[in-house]
Amino acid sequence: MDRVCIVGAGFSGAVIANELACAGYECDVFEARAHVAGNCHTELDTATGVMVHAFGPHIFHTNNERVWKLVRRFGEFAPFTNRVKAIAGGRVFSLPINLLTLNQFFGKTFSPEQARTFLDSIGDHTIENPRSFEEQALRFVGKELYEAFFKGYTIKQWGVDPAELPASILKRLPIRFNYDDNYYDSKYQGMPVKGYTHIVAVLLDHRNIHVFLGSSMSRQDALAYGHTFCTGPLDDWFGYGEGRLSYRTLDFCPERHRGDYQGNPVINYCDGNVPWTRICEHKHFAPWDAHDETVIFKEYSRDCGEKDVPFYPVRLVQDKHILDCYLRRAREEAAVTFAGRLATYRYLDMDVAIEEALVAAEKFLVQDALARRKAS
Ligand code: UDP
Repeated sequence: MDRVCIVGAGFSGAVIANELACAGYECDVFEARAHVAGNCHTELDTATGVMVHAFGPHIFHTNNERVWKLVRRFGEFAPFTNRVKAIAGGRVFSLPINLLTLNQFFGKTFSPEQARTFLDSIGDHTIENPRSFEEQALRFVGKELYEAFFKGYTIKQWGVDPAELPASILKRLPIRFNYDDNYYDSKYQGMPVKGYTHIVAVLLDHRNIHVFLGSSMSRQDALAYGHTFCTGPLDDWFGYGEGRLSYRTLDFCPERHRGDYQGNPVINYCDGNVPWTRICEHKHFAPWDAHDETVIFKEYSRDCGEKDVPFYPVRLVQDKHILDCYLRRAREEAAVTFAGRLATYRYLDMDVAIEEALVAAEKFLVQDALARRKAS
């Protein structure tokens, strides 16, 4: 069998490597960083012994049975429900917007039906087809809630006016007319007991997989392989020939304290005058562990420079133009499959990245088998 090259050892690269290795292919996996798992990387904080999500909170949630089954083959998941709180205007609220949030915010005792009617009455119905984040918010929650919970946070998070962002970003968050404060609507939700890096390491632990950490792989060198799966940044693959795609990066400022700092894993700070977007207290992501000390990360968002870790694809108008040029070039790369958040420049959740990696691996296996049959 040929050797296959895989660029990147995040979830996408690791799932592809595992599928191909099990089918008998030798896989060389090149990872530029010193660890596997990409931005899902988790590690023990030596000072406190707490497992930290080194690149921000990752809560596994999915409706996809196949993906849920797959991840649990590679590590134990403990039940975990993400319940986020938000601080806005000096008060604490429940998020995502639910019946408690509405009653707290407006000082009411609405029933579900009353809340639905009320929210409908404050939404801006002159907006028929919301096209931007701002229009989506104004249409469905009205000006007051938009300004309290979304406007300041979104400007901090994305660095642009919400009128320039797509409505799809806000559609990630549900609005509920009951007291369910689960941040996600997904059927399955959980946290890997030994962390995400452990899961990715187990995915890569196969005699046909060879992982090279701290190793970048150039397009030129990769093309020597029969086939390459690129899960790294699309613009980097093409040497930035069409320009740079813009990303937001995050800075995490850790603090260590005794006891319980905030009593919850994630608290969002929605006001524009607070410089951080949220504070994560990592020991609350693993409530089955007991720790006297605690480590928190204050999270700050900014434009991603050339040497920074890319997190969120911005996808503004100029990015879409550059992206189209790269996508055209990507379609011409017959021996390369692009997969994952960075190589497809999309805001992907972990489960979607995993499903797409499975599909990419399956497609390759079918096509390669056909090509071999034809050649013999
Ligand atoms: N958002 C907001 N206020 C909040 C939480 C989220 O305005 O308190 C907006 C913000 O624009 C964010 C988007 O909703 O980028 C999606 O939120 P999510 O929690 O899914 O972001 P992630 O956890 O992926 O950073």
